[in-house]
Amino acid sequence: MNNNTYFGGILDAVKSLTIGLKTSIKVFFEHHETEQYPENRATLTFTDRNRFCLEMPHNENNEHKCIACGLCQMACPNDSITVTSEMVTTEDGKKKKQLVKYEYNIGQCMFCNLCVTACPQGAIQFNQEFEQAVFDKSKLIKVLNHPGSKCQERPKPVIASKPTATPQGQPAGTQTTGEPKTETGETPQQEKVAATEPIETKKED
Ligand code: SF4
Ligand code: SF4
Repeated sequence: MNNNTYFGGILDAVKSLTIGLKTSIKVFFEHHETEQYPENRATLTFTDRNRFCLEMPHNENNEHKCIACGLCQMACPNDSITVTSEMVTTEDGKKKKQLVKYEYNIGQCMFCNLCVTACPQGAIQFNQEFEQAVFDKSKLIKVLNHPGSKCQERPKPVIASKPTATPQGQPAGTQTTGEPKTETGETPQQEKVAATEPIETKKED
């Protein structure tokens, strides 16, 4: 039929409408890959590789692991971290650095993870909190150490006791000479000498 005619045009329109409806119905019943955010906020999951915001974990006693060494600040290529510390005197009279404020500017962070890698204490990590949008730019600077928190006391290293010495002054379990011993308990040299010596026989009268 000639599409330029009046009825031909109507037929083409109905045909096109039917194809469109068919596609819409098919897609409606298909599995959807798109996330229904924010309705699915509670069930959203991310892979471990996601890095959303730096955090400093604290234990139940409000203690963190940061020793205020500043290595993360030095490692950061974007100046996103500012560590403020002070020197304090411990109970045993030693001078020690103590964290006062750990500031992290997420607005400048490029999530390279260099700070986490540089930390010798494992004191910082990235979390999975992805909703970081704010209306006020100053709120992008976060203080990671909690108010009143302190550094976790590390267990004192255990010094291993020295091995006990034998009466000859040799450590237990070691040989008295450098030469290895054979199955008979003698050195290979001693066995060789014994083999070359004549065996005494008893003459019968
Ligand atoms: S992830 Fe990279 S840019 Fe962000 S604070 Fe750490 S070192 Fe700096
Ligand atoms: S977070 Fe780690 S690297 Fe940064 S100051 Fe604290 S202990 Fe040092």
